[in-house]
Amino acid sequence: MKRLVSGIKPTGELTLGNYIGALKNFVQLQNELEDTEFFIFIADLHAITTMQEKSNLRKNIKNIAAIYIACGLDPNKVNLFIQSEVNEHAELGYVMESTLYIGEMERMIQYKEKRANNEEAIRTSLLTYPALMAADILLYDASIVPIGEDQTQHLEITKVAATRFNHLYGETFTIPSGFTPKTGARIMGLQDPTKKMSKSADKTPKDYILLLDDLNQVRNKIKSAITDSDNKIYFDKENKPGISNLLTIYSSLTNIKIDDLVAKYENISYGEFKSDLAEIVVSELSVIQERYKEIIGKKELDLYLDKGRENAKRVASRKLKKVYERIGLGRK
Ligand code: ATP
Ligand code: MG
Repeated sequence: MKRLVSGIKPTGELTLGNYIGALKNFVQLQNELEDTEFFIFIADLHAITTMQEKSNLRKNIKNIAAIYIACGLDPNKVNLFIQSEVNEHAELGYVMESTLYIGEMERMIQYKEKRANNEEAIRTSLLTYPALMAADILLYDASIVPIGEDQTQHLEITKVAATRFNHLYGETFTIPSGFTPKTGARIMGLQDPTKKMSKSADKTPKDYILLLDDLNQVRNKIKSAITDSDNKIYFDKENKPGISNLLTIYSSLTNIKIDDLVAKYENISYGEFKSDLAEIVVSELSVIQERYKEIIGKKELDLYLDKGRENAKRVASRKLKKVYERIGLGRK
């Protein structure tokens, strides 16, 4: 049986970028992959690499759990759980810190970027984040890790950690492979299409679409997305980042190839294109929002999270025990 692992940080409300780059693929993989066990978690430990207000953190954790299900993850098929409730993540995280080198951590782009913006008071865990991420994946011997483009470097370091550990202590971990969607791996901001749409970056609300946004606001945000003045619809990331991003969103949500969209919208105005796209996004989000309302605040949600935690713990604790033994920690 193969295993798939992935998680999302509860650092804010989920965006259309998270949906297209992550959630939508989890659901597709859940429906397509056979003989694969899914471990999907809410990465609350990763969230505290930056300051989180307590009540927001709690709220975001539950919201994300509900959104996972609302987007179509079947909690009976998938093990859905909260990272901090499976303490083996933090424990193996420490072992991974003792496997990876500081220089390797310092080379991570995400760390370098955050560092560049926020010179002081950078939490140590922001630097060591990739070690915990390696632990998240290796605990389950995951062979498939669906990730957006921003996570490829972290997955590479996970492979380095697994390979090094196996070399030092004997074959212990499966080397994972990333799975990045062909389109939609990097949805850009609507107001600044040269930067990734993100749930925690300090941006104007018009830059991002939240999955739980009011649907009229969603329409407005798409209609006011920044585009160029050339009024021709085709894909050119460099010179037409706004239109290219909208084409990517359109294509990801409809599974229509970008080339086919370009043909369909030849000689059609940006305004008309945007209003078509707005309706596509709204119809996708309205289904998610309906299901979300049905599950949030219900006891079932906690039961799913309990079941997910127990299943995750069973696998994780066995693995951690083996790791400690391999290293020579504790006693026989
Ligand atoms: P943060 O700003 O806190 O890093 P985020 O929106 O980047 O938040 P993450 O929790 O880091 O979200 O990532 C969750 C998943 O969503 C990852 O698989 C990531 O690759 C994917 N993802 C995040 N932003 C985008 C985006 N703009 N386009 C496509 N995928 C994305
Ligand atoms: Mg991120």
